[in-house]
Amino acid sequence: MITRHTRRFRFVAWYRFAPLVAASIVGALAATILAPAGVFRAATRRVEAVAAATNGVKDGATESEARSAIGVAAADLAAKAIDLTYSFDEHTIYWPTDQSFQWRKTKWGISPGGYWYASAVYSASEHGGTHIDGPIHFAKGKDTVDQIPLDRLIAPAAVVDISDHCMRDRDHELTVGDIEAWEDDHGPIAPGTIVLVRSGWGRYWPDKARYLGSDVSGDVENLHFPGIAGDAALWLARRRVAGVGIDTASLDHGPSRDFNTHQILNNAGIYGLENVANLEKLPASGAMLIALPMKIKGGSGGPVRIIAILP
Ligand SMILES: [Zn+2]
Repeated sequence: MITRHTRRFRFVAWYRFAPLVAASIVGALAATILAPAGVFRAATRRVEAVAAATNGVKDGATESEARSAIGVAAADLAAKAIDLTYSFDEHTIYWPTDQSFQWRKTKWGISPGGYWYASAVYSASEHGGTHIDGPIHFAKGKDTVDQIPLDRLIAPAAVVDISDHCMRDRDHELTVGDIEAWEDDHGPIAPGTIVLVRSGWGRYWPDKARYLGSDVSGDVENLHFPGIAGDAALWLARRRVAGVGIDTASLDHGPSRDFNTHQILNNAGIYGLENVANLEKLPASGAMLIALPMKIKGGSGGPVRIIAILP
């Protein structure tokens, strides 16, 4: 028989262990993702701090004390979070041949019942704004966006800065040499890392003419922006990175006609992140990425909210 007393006991007991369970999950996640990397000590220290905060809850702690320990850990995470996502609106950049973001208010005001009610409908191509390319985008039979495992979407980030090259050549492509130079400075890129390429193109968002090279709807003949070279894509595929992101409209540079880099990465099961915002706010290494796409069943891609947790 469940008395009021035992129910109360169970409720308190659950709160007592919740922080430890949460710390264990975060710890296990960190051990899986971060430990092999060797270069993410700062992120590991953060996880230890979270574990310490939650472990600090004594057996006799009250419900509110347990809650505040989690609150401290959550506030610590939030304080170190950077949003790498552009808002979706009528200015959001889409591929010139794709449908852009449509948003229409259907109800927006005081309802007949006398209360406020706001609601709208939206539609768009999967591939515009800050979005993910599921591996199926350029590789038949590979993961759709809903099938990408969470442990590939929550992972350490390596930021390779090629903005100097791109200032001189708007069609510049990330080379193997650029990645090797990064490794000379920061150590090996571990399998499972999300590699982000910073071209500096974010400074042009949302000016289509400067960001894409053309602001003419349907024009794919005059696109100019940086991307990733095929041999660099092969290098990243062999390294078994989890995903590859860039602050331009495409993993392949503007003049590409065969989207070779998309083909190589997607065939290796690697997803892409495009139109990634605010890359200049990230360190070259030590940040952790959380990239959660809209879970469109069977989708080839879709909008993604990307958060970086600074070391
Ligand atoms: Zn895409």
